[in-house]
Amino acid sequence: MKPLIIANWKMNPATLAKAKKLFSAVKKGAGNSKNVKVVICPPFPYIAPLSGIANAQPKSKIIFGAQDCFWQAKGAFTGEVSTAMLKSIKVKYVIIGHSERRHLLNETNEIINKKLLATIGAKLIPILCVGETEYEKKSGKTKHVLKKQIDAGLKDVSKQNSKLILAYEPVWAIGTGKHPTSEYVRSISILLNRELKNIFGKQTNKIPIIYGGSVNSKNGLTYIEKAKMQGLLVGNASLKAKEFIKIVKNV
Ligand code: PEP
Repeated sequence: MKPLIIANWKMNPATLAKAKKLFSAVKKGAGNSKNVKVVICPPFPYIAPLSGIANAQPKSKIIFGAQDCFWQAKGAFTGEVSTAMLKSIKVKYVIIGHSERRHLLNETNEIINKKLLATIGAKLIPILCVGETEYEKKSGKTKHVLKKQIDAGLKDVSKQNSKLILAYEPVWAIGTGKHPTSEYVRSISILLNRELKNIFGKQTNKIPIIYGGSVNSKNGLTYIEKAKMQGLLVGNASLKAKEFIKIVKNV
């Protein structure tokens, strides 16, 4: 399985023109990487225009993801975006349960589970984000929190043929410049794998676990080589084309 390098642009850049410039630079430098799968998750309004650039000659292999979705198929849900809408613009991945949505927008494990089930139902691949806060880490609750996020987030997910990705993103490392040691991430990934095995049995081997939290070109490779992560979720560093390309090329 090729490592996945996923860019989460969050609510950036400020204009479509800036998004096109950033995307074109990433396409040029990392659009045809052989050793890794590159996924870009821009804000909703940019996905279709950027997909036009990705598919214009020379075509790139960049795949698109969304940063969120709603669980209902259609109807009176002002401001929401459905999985069918995302599919219709060729999105393949959807980030679900990012810590910014959990903590700033009060998304619960139950909401996250509904979104995840809708995503799988639409044959999109969810990237389920889990991670402990600094407080939870300091008070020895990491294991408990992660288990709860996984068990509740994956409730009712079919054991057969459900494609998904698990992103371990310690909240204290997101956007802070603080990042865990590869030994710490390795120990967490063993724990996550054990939990996945309880749910999926042998199918677990097909669920990549990736790491996110202040990844940059200096630390990215360590998480893959030493912590045995199957990919990276990159926030701030994905907004700088040169830095993001370096992360991709290092892997
Ligand atoms: C993220 O938002 O998923 C993330 C990992 O952000 P950053 O790389 O900026 O910590």
